[in-house]
Amino acid sequence: MSVEMDADVIIVGAGILGGLAAERLAARGKSVLMLEAGPRVDRWRLLESFRNMPSKGSADAFYPELAYAPKSGGGPYSNNYFENVGPMAWRPSVLRVVGGTSWHWSSAFWRFVPNDFKLRSLYGVGRDWPLDYGMLEPWYTLAEQITGCSGSDADDQGGGGGKPFPPRSAPYPLPPLARSSYIQAVAEKMTRLGFNFIEEPHLRATRPYGGRPVCTGNNNCSPLCPIGSMFTGDMAVTRAERAGAKVMPDTVAYRLEKGAGGKIVAVHTKAPDGKSTRRTARYVVLAAHALETPKLMLMSEVGNSSDQVGRNLMSHPSLIWEVLGKDALWPGRGPSQQGSVNDRRDGAERSRSAAFKYIFNSHIPNQQLTQRLLKQGVIGRELDERIRHDCARFISIIAGMEQLPLASNRIDLSDRKDALGLPTPRIHMDVDDYNRRGGLIAGRDFERFEREFGMQVELGDRKIFRLASHIMGSTIMGDDPRTSVVDADCRTHDHPNLFIASCSVFASSSTVNPTLTGAALSLRLGEQIAREI
Ligand SMILES: Cc1cc2nc3c(=O)[nH]c(=O)nc-3n(C[C@H](O)[C@H](O)[C@H](O)COP(=O)(O)OP(=O)(O)OC[C@H]3O[C@@H](n4cnc5c(N)ncnc54)[C@H](O)[C@@H]3O)c2cc1C
Repeated sequence: MSVEMDADVIIVGAGILGGLAAERLAARGKSVLMLEAGPRVDRWRLLESFRNMPSKGSADAFYPELAYAPKSGGGPYSNNYFENVGPMAWRPSVLRVVGGTSWHWSSAFWRFVPNDFKLRSLYGVGRDWPLDYGMLEPWYTLAEQITGCSGSDADDQGGGGGKPFPPRSAPYPLPPLARSSYIQAVAEKMTRLGFNFIEEPHLRATRPYGGRPVCTGNNNCSPLCPIGSMFTGDMAVTRAERAGAKVMPDTVAYRLEKGAGGKIVAVHTKAPDGKSTRRTARYVVLAAHALETPKLMLMSEVGNSSDQVGRNLMSHPSLIWEVLGKDALWPGRGPSQQGSVNDRRDGAERSRSAAFKYIFNSHIPNQQLTQRLLKQGVIGRELDERIRHDCARFISIIAGMEQLPLASNRIDLSDRKDALGLPTPRIHMDVDDYNRRGGLIAGRDFERFEREFGMQVELGDRKIFRLASHIMGSTIMGDDPRTSVVDADCRTHDHPNLFIASCSVFASSSTVNPTLTGAALSLRLGEQIAREI
């Protein structure tokens, strides 16, 4: 008996990772239906809203704020969306629109290094992945080519003993962007301090690529690239649609239905008015990022025989050195973040303390700096002069740290409900001594930065950990179904036709931004499913 399905594959979530998996499947002739909780948005409309906003302080205030698709920043629906029950407050800045969160990302596109996959066997901490760097390498290369990644083939990105590292089977598709004068000054100072300053691989086009124009340095990557030079999730979704995938916006998945043989036979969705629909497919891929994916699984009671769904939640706990330096170095030209120091990314100390990398912001928080002066009573012509003086001297360096997968750091279901009557996410997050010991090393480096940059005023508290909007680990990968949720192919141990395309499958966080590794896994998963159908 033949059974009529809505699609070969349903993908829940039309962000960058869902989009890449969808394109892979559609290009191989499979019918793909992408269910996306949020609406479609246009770059030009977002840009107009951003321009018209009196305050440019928030990264996502001008993205749609909807009752049925709450994001995580400010707004009546979003403010209460995440419930924090652990010691650390964390409201990762996720967007619910076609294209997802990467509309307002920075597009740093790093590979993991081989040792990131073997923390337990090399350093006796965390977990090992059930795959290694070599297995992912061709997929890293493909993801870089699809997205037009720029970087330097000569750089040791950490752990290579000064030689180009990690190994690459193909050069970067695009060369690095020219360094802004601010970043040149920072690079000189870092070199004087004995660090190896390298390029940050990223997705701003440095030559016309795939219809995208060259980055013109608007310094606006986050919250929105005004010219579409930076690759964002909407572009991945457009590529999937061109290959034949269908996208249903304003469609919130709320239940996965189990059938015979442990298979998932349907996805139940709600429209903005609450109307429910049942949709069927041979395979289901969850690509709703690392908070909504486990939330949907917990709501549906699927994939959780290990009791690991939602646990092992990881971010990059970060310490920030933010000051007014002695000299006018004029940040705020070129991309809003450029270059990196990865010297502390790997090594024997990882058995005791978290590895980390340095991120160099190049933006100016005019509003924050002006408010500080107003509080001091500065007004009139002096205010203008002091704003100019302080903005030119603003320096912000982040130590972005790895975090171990701990069962106690988790997302589960809150008793609170959203406008559709669905539970909201409840988050418990904390840092442990592994991070605190890493923080001591960063603290000593900060003192050296202080002398090199000639600090005048410290603006923040360099000892307080903040969590980045890099969400990982909550449906962790492993060989053992008793202690993990998915296998090396991102297939859930419990359901043979349920896969996960999300950084939620990571078994370690590394020190670097996660999305390239998520992209490589998603492309690989797309190929795996295409072979099986
Ligand atoms: C300010 C900022 C800067 C960042 N910078 C970087 C960077 O430089 N480099 C990097 O690697 N990473 C960066 N990140 C992280 C990066 O944005 C994410 O890793 C990436 O977007 C994850 O892609 P995704 O497709 O898994 O999830 P998303 O992009 O979040 O997409 C998931 C989609 O699923 C949809 N969805 C959710 N729930 C449901 C449901 N129930 N039903 C249907 N659809 C649903 C959502 O609406 C969304 O569209 C940054 C994040 C932020 C906030």
